[in-house]
Amino acid sequence: MERTVKPNTSNILGLGIESTAHTFGASVVNSTKILSDVKDVYKPPEGSGIHPREASRHHTEKAAEVIKQALEKAAVKPKELNFVAYSMGPGLGPCLRVGAVVARTLSSYMKIPLIPVNHAVGHIEIGAMLTGALDPVVLLVSGGHTVICAFEADRWRIFGETLDLSIGQLLDQFGREAGFASPCGARIEQHALSSSNLLPLPYSVKGQDVSYSGMLTAAKKMLHSGKPFDDICYSLQETGFAMLVEVAERAIAFTEKKQLLVVGGVAANRRLSEMLKEVSTRHGAGLYVVPLTYSGDCGAQIAWTGLLAYRAGEEIQVERSVVRQSWRLDQVDVPWRSS
Ligand code: AMP
Ligand code: MG
Repeated sequence: MERTVKPNTSNILGLGIESTAHTFGASVVNSTKILSDVKDVYKPPEGSGIHPREASRHHTEKAAEVIKQALEKAAVKPKELNFVAYSMGPGLGPCLRVGAVVARTLSSYMKIPLIPVNHAVGHIEIGAMLTGALDPVVLLVSGGHTVICAFEADRWRIFGETLDLSIGQLLDQFGREAGFASPCGARIEQHALSSSNLLPLPYSVKGQDVSYSGMLTAAKKMLHSGKPFDDICYSLQETGFAMLVEVAERAIAFTEKKQLLVVGGVAANRRLSEMLKEVSTRHGAGLYVVPLTYSGDCGAQIAWTGLLAYRAGEEIQVERSVVRQSWRLDQVDVPWRSS
C-alpha cells in the first residue's frame, strides 16, 4: 500500500463498488455527500442460502448497468472521477473478484487511483458519516459480522464478537428453515410483532463474546415440533438481541464513551434499537443508528470510505490488488482517524 496524504480539497469525486456477498452496488460520492447509490441484489431460491458462484454470475451480469446508473444519477462523467474504490474483503471470493476486476479495469483505463476498502470499516464509516457519531462504541451487526468495537490506538479494537454464527446468519438460517428466501431478518421482525410469548432459548455470552449456534439448533427444533412461528421469531429476537445488549453495555461502561453507533443490515431492526436505547440512556450515551437505506451492503459504504482513504493517501497498485476473503477489522489501517 502506498500513502501520500492528499490536500483536503473539496471537489473530489469517487466511485465505490461493493460486491462482497448478495449485493452488487455502485455509488458516487463527493467530499460532503452521497450523490448516488445503486444496487442489484442476488436472490437465491426460497429455502436456500447464497451460492457463491451463482451470486458472482449475477454480479458479472449486472455490474455494467449498476455502474452506469450510479454515474447517471450522480450526473458525473467517468472522466471526472478522481478515484475508484472497491471492497477488497472480507467476503466470498468469487463475488469479491467481480468487483475487483471491474475496479481494476476502470482504474487502469482511466488512470485514476485504485482504493481498497475493508467492508466492515465501510459499514462503520457510512454510519458515522450519516449519523454524526464521532467517537462511538460500535455494534456492527450484519450477515457477515457481529462485532462490538471502538477506535483506540490507530485501529478498531474488538471488545467482543460472535464465536460462530453472525446474528444475521442466525435469522437468515432460521428463516430458510421455515422456507423463506434469504435475507430473512425483516420478515422475522414482522412476525415477531405478532407475539409476546417468550419461549426458552439458550442465552450464550462468554466473556464479551456471543455464540448463536445453540440458539439456531433449538429454534429449528421448536419449528419442527410445531411451536407457533411468531413466538419463535419473537423469542429469537428477544434472546439474541439481549446478548448483544449485554456486551454493548459492558463496552460502554469500560470505555466510558458517550456514543453507541449501530451499523450493518440488522441495524434496520426497530426492536434492537429499542433495547439498545435503554442501555445507552442508562449510561448517558447517545444512540446513533445508521439510516435504513444504508444499513445493508451498498456501494455508498465503499465510496465514502474510499474517499476518506484517498484523502489519507491510501492507494494500491493494480498488480497487488488481490482480494482478501478473510480480513479482520482489527487488522485494518485507518490513517484518517485519530484516537
Ligand atoms: P448486510 O450483510 O449488512 O447486507 O446485512 C444483511 C443482514 O441484515 C441479513 O442477515 C438480513 O437478514 C439482516 N436484516 C435486514 N433487515 C433486518 C431487520 N429488519 N431485522 C433484522 N435483520 C435484518
Ligand atoms: Mg455487510
